[in-house]
Amino acid sequence: MKDLPARRLLLVHAHPDDESINNGATMAKYAAEGAQVTLVTCTLGEEGEVIPPELVHLTADKEDRLGAHRIEELAAAMRELGVTDHRFLGGAGRYRDSGMMGAPQNHRENAFWNADVDEAAAHLVEVIRSVRPQVVITYDPQGSYGHPDHIQAHRVALRAAELAAEPAFRRDLGDPYAVPKIYWNRVPRSAVEEGFARLRASGADFPGIADVSDVPGVVDDVTVTTEVDATAYAAAKAAAMRAHATQIVVKGPFFTLSNQLGQPIFTTEYYELAHGESGAAAGEREHGLFAGVAS
Ligand SMILES: [Zn+2]
Repeated sequence: MKDLPARRLLLVHAHPDDESINNGATMAKYAAEGAQVTLVTCTLGEEGEVIPPELVHLTADKEDRLGAHRIEELAAAMRELGVTDHRFLGGAGRYRDSGMMGAPQNHRENAFWNADVDEAAAHLVEVIRSVRPQVVITYDPQGSYGHPDHIQAHRVALRAAELAAEPAFRRDLGDPYAVPKIYWNRVPRSAVEEGFARLRASGADFPGIADVSDVPGVVDDVTVTTEVDATAYAAAKAAAMRAHATQIVVKGPFFTLSNQLGQPIFTTEYYELAHGESGAAAGEREHGLFAGVAS
């Protein structure tokens, strides 16, 4: 087995751009500190809307070439974050963006929402057994906001962690490995409210301002177990988000999606430890993902 860096982080996301919005600062920080940061993206985001008018021809209902374009956007974002290991689950294009819940695209044969969870998880087992991450980050069981691909990414990540540790499962995919810590992306309500207050006070010029309920993964503060202050990597995160130019417009410390509603960019990122031992004292938050992990 090749020598692995001491600290190894695996992120499982549904679409290109989710990683930069949710974890861009965290990824840049740990990559800069020498950790192995591995991103697995489950779909190409083929069903996304497109913001720049000159690229609208790429959308699924027109030329259906958005997936290939978003591969390039993701690669550019990873360069901004200093992340060199990014992969698509089962290879680029193996699973297609399922569209919003209830959309006819949910029923497409290769839609990620239709994937057999064990079959999709096997692709990730191979990654887990080779990277041997101490930390896995994905979404909560509701997929943060109910997008079918986010829910499925959660299911596949959790199932893969289970199967990777199972000695009898597919030894052709590597030696068994149990992931010590699994986190869900979260945002504490107080941080979201503070972010929107900052946005309103800034006088930034947006067609509208989003609402707390528009931010995925918002929970009561007490649910958040872990925060990663990566404010030093704010510029890298903003640059990575900007690289997803079909999806995101960045304006200073704020951004908009295709709905044009302003939202704050968080440079302290938040998590809920869903599996494993907290490295913090009882009742306190962890201030890093590797707290308490032996390297
Ligand atoms: Zn997404």
